[in-house]
Amino acid sequence: MESVRPSHSSGGTFRCSQSCRLKAGVAATVLERGKPVQPRRRDLASLQRGLLSPSSNYCFGEGGAGTYSDGKLYTRTKDRQAVADVLADLVRFGAPQEIEVDARPHVGSNRLPRVLTALRAHLEAAGVEYRFETEMAAVTLSGGKVRAVRTRAGEELPADAVVLAVGHSARDAYDWAAGAGVAIMRKDLAVGVRIEHPQPVIDALQYGRAAGDARLPPAFYELAAVGCGRGVYSFCMCPGGWVVPAATEPEGVVVNGMSLSKRD
Ligand SMILES: Cc1cc2nc3c(=O)[nH]c(=O)nc-3n(C[C@H](O)[C@H](O)[C@H](O)COP(=O)(O)OP(=O)(O)OC[C@H]3O[C@@H](n4cnc5c(N)ncnc54)[C@H](O)[C@@H]3O)c2cc1C
Repeated sequence: MESVRPSHSSGGTFRCSQSCRLKAGVAATVLERGKPVQPRRRDLASLQRGLLSPSSNYCFGEGGAGTYSDGKLYTRTKDRQAVADVLADLVRFGAPQEIEVDARPHVGSNRLPRVLTALRAHLEAAGVEYRFETEMAAVTLSGGKVRAVRTRAGEELPADAVVLAVGHSARDAYDWAAGAGVAIMRKDLAVGVRIEHPQPVIDALQYGRAAGDARLPPAFYELAAVGCGRGVYSFCMCPGGWVVPAATEPEGVVVNGMSLSKRD
């Protein structure tokens, strides 16, 4: 979640020196409800044993879900330049160079945290302030404009503009934003299940007799079907990966999948 103050602004919590003006000419403070990557890693280990921290898990913490996602960078967008810019930025911060040319670019869950840490170092050097374990819990509006954000701890932070980038798991944020009069638009969503197949089974189906050849990568598949007016499709296949617990609420059961860069 970013809270930004335009460069022409004076005074207030997010003021900072000329050196911290970023590309778009604003000084920014990032409020993150979770922890930085390293301590977050320990909470993920606890999660593997069934202990969920509601603010530090596969979705919440530095870099959000993206930090521990599989890092598959596929998109159907036709704006290739925007995609190329994102890939170039990822390479600049440590992702493998092949992603700029691969048809199915993939970074891997083991590499993503390093990329995010390098990105934070770059932004901090440019003057961005990060505040971890700081949950935004309310927004103050007046005259149709945002004036401040309030943290869960009760701190009031003046702001000229607030970018809410809370992801879809921050259901509490949608509640308080709607309560404060922020316009919220419904978006269609797909509902899915995650299926775990032994990789040798997929390899045998896709490669036939060549399955098991060390020169072949773990096989991939894609399926789509339409029936009864609805489409069903495979999404987010993680060759050579595994299923991880991606819940953020103690009573919730949510799974996702990820693989390491070698997909082994
Ligand atoms: C295991 C896993 C594998 C995935 N694999 C892929 C993949 O291969 N390819 C792909 O495209 N997508 C993948 N995804 C999905 C992808 O990670 C998400 O779609 C993407 O990260 C969403 O980005 P976002 O910026 O909208 O939100 P998020 O990444 O969810 O970030 C939201 C951030 O806001 C913070 N936050 C929330 N509420 C507050 C608050 N009130 N105050 C302060 N901070 C707050 C959170 O802590 C978090 O850091 C995967 C997800 C998971 C969990």
